[in-house]
Amino acid sequence: MPPNQLNADLILTGGLVLTLDERNSEATAIATRGGRIVYVGDDDGAIALVTDASRHIDLAGRAVIPGINESHMHATWLGAIWPATIMDGLAGGSGFAQSTTLESSAERRAAILRAGDIAASLGITSYTEPGLGPGEDDGATGACGSDVLEQYRALAAEGLLRARVTVLMLFGELDGPSTIDDFERGIHDLADDDPDSEWFRIGGIKVFADGIPPMRSAWIHGHYLDGTHGTLLVEGIDESDRAENMRAMITLAHELGYQVGVHATGDKSIDAVVEIVESLDGSDLRHYIIHGDLVGRSTLDRMAALGIGLNTQAGIAPATSAMLAATLGPQVALNAWPIPDALAAGIPLCLSSDAPVLTPDWRIGIAAAAAWAGEGSLGDPRQTMLTLLKTYTVNPAWQDRAESWKGTLTVGKVADLCVLARNPLEVTPAELPGVTVDVTVAGGRVVFERS
Ligand SMILES: [Zn+2]
Repeated sequence: MPPNQLNADLILTGGLVLTLDERNSEATAIATRGGRIVYVGDDDGAIALVTDASRHIDLAGRAVIPGINESHMHATWLGAIWPATIMDGLAGGSGFAQSTTLESSAERRAAILRAGDIAASLGITSYTEPGLGPGEDDGATGACGSDVLEQYRALAAEGLLRARVTVLMLFGELDGPSTIDDFERGIHDLADDDPDSEWFRIGGIKVFADGIPPMRSAWIHGHYLDGTHGTLLVEGIDESDRAENMRAMITLAHELGYQVGVHATGDKSIDAVVEIVESLDGSDLRHYIIHGDLVGRSTLDRMAALGIGLNTQAGIAPATSAMLAATLGPQVALNAWPIPDALAAGIPLCLSSDAPVLTPDWRIGIAAAAAWAGEGSLGDPRQTMLTLLKTYTVNPAWQDRAESWKGTLTVGKVADLCVLARNPLEVTPAELPGVTVDVTVAGGRVVFERS
């Protein structure tokens, strides 16, 4: 090979490289060039790639995992209010300023850049911004409207994004109603000239099927303790009209080749979505359920068979289960968010934060998921940690339809890395939040380094 084929821009040696590939293979060193991984193996092999221009990071026993993919976070909104979170605010915590609204393009741009810094400090190298569009142009946060999309486009073109961004478009209100007319207009107006790059892409469409169980706005088969049963948020003259309109939305998006992420929390709305997807042709668009609080056990099997993903937030479970118990009874609350069952069914489960609802700290997300699932329910400690790490790396790459080029530390894939101070397989999930993120590499560039 010519010499320039042998050079590495960056090598990391003397640690534990957890590739999270199918065999869970491990190495001690990794090297990158031109934004890709060019070597995974022993130290000697990596050192052979060093030149005067290479950066060499001595891991000194630390661990490298694939860059974290935060597969559902409202990053711009997070950038506006962090370190406050909605859940802290609800719990009476100090930080959340209800009045925080992004007023101008400059403020939105700054919030996106701040979210990039927050992400980098947590080892996050990809995220999904779930719900930007005209329905939120006058929204309360100012963080989800069309102008946010414009700011992302500009930052992507300027090369200033510090994490890879997948956007879901929204043609209604966040956590609110949508109409079939707005949906059709929005999807037909979508520019087809957006770059489908590795840094910024419109991945699909977000649909709000229903609300949330604590507000009795999730659409359920049974009824709440007060006798109501919720309904769909998609507008229509009656229940069956609403269901037909949701079918029309998902079908249209599917026919135009867009992936659909459906916010659905009630068992009846989840079943309705699954039935709709079942009726579509088999193209591999990987539509997925967002939240899925009350998903039924038999529905999980249908979802797995149909290739429907589940994107859920384990931290919401402990934070709201008392409210769930108050509206639906304690047994329903105990059975909600069935993480072990979803994994056992074979669903490529993605865990996420819905930040700023919860903190975007995935280490806390993993601790919450393990606690909610129950000790031993995901296998032995090592298997549990591997499984949960994959819900933030391998599985979201699948959700992004990008598993051929990201999600594991494999030669040829993008050089997105997270260096942890300790081997995560040697700590319990409850201890993981205490393991610091030391270095974050996105596309071969060091975007964060703990000082
Ligand atoms: Zn959300």
